[in-house]
Order: sequence, then structure tokens, then C-alpha cells
Amino acid sequence: MNSRPALPPLREVIATHGLAASKALGQNFLLDEQLLDRIAAIPGPLQDAAAFEVGPGPGGLTRAILRAGARLVAVERDRRCLPALAELELAFPGQLRTISGDAMAVDARAEAGDGAHVIANLPYNVGTPLLIGWLSADWSPLPWWSSLTLMFQMEVAERIVAQVGSNHYGRLAILSQWRSDARIAMKVHRSAFTPPPKVMSAVVHLTPKPAPEGVQIKYLERLTAAAFGQRRKMLRQSLKGLPGALDALEVIGIDPQRRAETVSVEEFVAVARVLGS
Ligand code: SAM
Repeated sequence: MNSRPALPPLREVIATHGLAASKALGQNFLLDEQLLDRIAAIPGPLQDAAAFEVGPGPGGLTRAILRAGARLVAVERDRRCLPALAELELAFPGQLRTISGDAMAVDARAEAGDGAHVIANLPYNVGTPLLIGWLSADWSPLPWWSSLTLMFQMEVAERIVAQVGSNHYGRLAILSQWRSDARIAMKVHRSAFTPPPKVMSAVVHLTPKPAPEGVQIKYLERLTAAAFGQRRKMLRQSLKGLPGALDALEVIGIDPQRRAETVSVEEFVAVARVLGS
């Protein structure tokens, strides 16, 4: 039997605590509990699992993650949301710890613990830097997080999962896919948010796979920055300024007349391995 006290509807929470959405904080709230439960189900069963959420806001997704049985650490920058989150701490005893602060400055691994599932409806202005930070974490042979389930604007989601040769293919696809499987798990219509943003959104699900041996991310970052800095140019032009890059292409057997958007993730990884050797 569930003896949890009934929680007020999210609209009431927003009204009671005066949580008028702040554009500067990227606040577009999700209030549909069924949708939120579907998002919280994407990582798989969460009973007793560790989870980490950025930007719980009034707590809609937070509730869904807690209903799924996770032990959750949530970081929220907007202090106005803290009383509503304190109510959730009481309603789900021992399951939720809220940190008041900027997720960019929080050590997620230290706070959430190894193996945590990261689940968030991300604020648009810090979503990509946070993703890059999680992707750049130590992998030995896997990162501290078990999965990333993240809401992005559709255009960013498309860049994360883009395949070689497509318009959206670039640095973000390579940094996301070289040691993770990345897929769009759910598209979310703008009308699902309060207030509705201008664009559609999507939830991306990333699961880590062992890092390819002998490749350091700094070489992959330098290589992809140079290659996609001038994406319409041939590699022999765009990589000219990166010491060793043209020799590395030759070692791997990549034609320098190709453009960055035609080079697969595996090929970039192979070049980065030679660059760093
Ligand atoms: N999780 C809620 C939901 O799904 O309805 C709110 C999502 S809203 C898109 C983004 C949330 O991130 C807001 O609550 C905002 O205050 C918070 N936020 C913005 N920047 C932040 C930062 N740097 N660190 C932590 N939280 C942040």
C-alpha cells in the first residue's frame, strides 16, 4: 500500500510558490504526469537506482523519477523552487536531496555517485555545455553515469544523433557517439510545455559503451574543431593548421580531398588515435 500523502497538482504548486516562468533560466515546465512518467521510464527500471536531475523547477519530472523509486539528487538554480522541492523531500522520505546552485559548478559524480542515471529537462542555455561535460568525464572503461536521458530543443537533439553525411552531422554527433549509443527516445510537442517554447523538443537517450583504446578526447576535440570549423572545405585545407593531422589522414588512408561531413565517427577516432600516438 502506498501511504504517501497526496501531492497538489503542479499548476497549484506553481501558483502557490509564485513560479512564473523565467526566460533567462530557460524555464519551460512540463505538467502532464503521464508524459513525465514516460520520460522517467526511458532509462529502464529505477527502483533503488541513483539518479541525478538538473533543474527540477516545480518538480514535475522530479516526482516521476521519485515515483519510479530512484534515489535522486537534484540541482536547481532558482531559489523560488526550493520550498516546492522541500515538500517533495517530505513526500518521498529519504529519496530526494536538493542542492541549491548552478549545475555547471556542481560535481555531479561526487553528489550523485557512480552508476547514477542522469535525467533532465535541461535549461536551453546550459544543456549543451552540461552534455559535453558528462561526455568528457573520465571513462575507465565506462563513465560514472549509467545513462543520460535529456530533453533538448529538437535541433540540438538532431545534432547529437546525426549520422555521417547528414546536415546535422558535426562535432556534437562525434563527441556524443564515439563511445555512446545515442538515440531520440521521444519527440515532445511544444504545446506540452508551460509556457510553450518556440520550437519542438526531443528526449535523447545516451548509453555508454567502452571507450576505444588509445584515443584521448583532447585529440578528438582538436581534430573535430578544426575539421568542422570549415566544414565545407576539404580536409587538406581545414586541417592544415593542426600539427600532424594531414600525416595522420595518410596513415589511416583517408583522402584529404574529402570534407569533414563525409568522415565517419570511426574514421575520426582512428585519426585521433594516430594524432595522439
Ligand atoms: N524539470 C522541470 C520540468 O521539466 O518541468 C523544469 C525544466 S526547465 C526547462 C529548466 C530548469 O532548470 C528550471 O527550473 C531552471 O530554473 C533550472 N536551471 C536553469 N539554469 C540552471 C543551472 N545552471 N543549474 C541548475 N538549474 C538550472
